[in-house]
Amino acid sequence: MVDVAALEDAILAGERAALARAITLAESRRADHREQAHRLIQRLLPHAGGANRVGITGVPGVGKSTVIDALGTYLTGLGHKVAVLAVDPSSTRSGGSILGDKTRMARLAVDPNAYIRPSPSSGTLGGVAAKTRETMLLCEAAGFDVILVETVGVGQSETAVADLTDFFLVLMLPNAGDELQGIKKGIVEIADMIAVNKADGAGANAARAAAAQYRSALHILAPSSSLWSTPVVTISGLTGDGLDAMWSKVEDHRARLGAKGLIAEKRRRQDVKWMWAMVEDRLQARLRHDPALKARTPMLEAAVGAGELSPTLAADEIAKALGL
Ligand code: GDP
Repeated sequence: MVDVAALEDAILAGERAALARAITLAESRRADHREQAHRLIQRLLPHAGGANRVGITGVPGVGKSTVIDALGTYLTGLGHKVAVLAVDPSSTRSGGSILGDKTRMARLAVDPNAYIRPSPSSGTLGGVAAKTRETMLLCEAAGFDVILVETVGVGQSETAVADLTDFFLVLMLPNAGDELQGIKKGIVEIADMIAVNKADGAGANAARAAAAQYRSALHILAPSSSLWSTPVVTISGLTGDGLDAMWSKVEDHRARLGAKGLIAEKRRRQDVKWMWAMVEDRLQARLRHDPALKARTPMLEAAVGAGELSPTLAADEIAKALGL
């Protein structure tokens, strides 16, 4: 039995072992563990919310872990406490996540002011993201004031991370080409900044050229706002060049939108979205796991597929079984 009050005190005191234990509870499949985690999070909520929440995405190989290692180290050097979390729905299939892997972030992994947590490895994207959200709240209560949430450059998980964070950073490779297509396909709506990585050595010119291309593409595609227009910067995770300028833009965004109450407003909108996402997740789980439904749905599916039963009647029956 977990002593929730003791765990609460230990987390507020910034004890890492307690934080890790609470996150493990929140990620557990056991209903009693999750219930304890929810009670704990409820108690800690007044102490959460204080971090600058930044989502970071990019295709594999773009340099996410290199950049996060260098950026995180820069930030702890400034006195911040940095938590690195990951959302990787594919980890359910692969049995482990390549994101948030400590070996990929050698300096941060041994930094006493950093905490790295790989992606929870169970459930749907919604489930993984919901657990990451709880982990984020726990980290905030433990005193982390910068949360970096890493994800891979595939549509849905990016949207989920954008719904978790205040700022969404998209890393790009210097040799644009196909990447510009990515820009057209919806990244613009969620990107708060684009950083072209690997702007060093022989790659420096290509990175600058790519940045110019992205700038003109954004000029055409990006929704205009008087408060914020998506900047395009060049950085090197390897040398650390440009990371300070990049971070100052993140802070600038926070200051500008924060002054108008827009960060708080965004978080409230996200909370409402999360509420519905969790409801949907539970409905889906009921659909998949309810024994009576599990026994019945294959027959309904077959009957609809064979044209013997109308989809409306079949849906009615399923809805009735769900108590709807
Ligand atoms: P991830 O898959 O997005 O996490 O990418 P990694 O951080 O693992 O980097 C992929 C490869 O790119 C590695 O070989 C890195 O050393 C290299 N890399 C990452 N950032 C930079 C950079 O700023 N400059 C250069 N030249 N190489 C980089």
